[in-house]
Amino acid sequence: MTHYICTGGCEGVSDKVGVCQDEHCPKRSMPLTECNCTDNSHPDAQKQTE
Ligand SMILES: [Zn+2]
Ligand SMILES: [Zn+2]
Repeated sequence: MTHYICTGGCEGVSDKVGVCQDEHCPKRSMPLTECNCTDNSHPDAQKQTE
């Protein structure tokens, strides 16, 4: 199932298109990234993590 994740490191996940709402996240108010993983690994969320 498609879901939407934050790539800012807050591990935010939504089942709808939206923006990050974690006030401590560097990507707050930034659009969430579409993810289609089936095991909650959210590989796309880790692309920008060093
Ligand atoms: Zn976030
Ligand atoms: Zn995912």
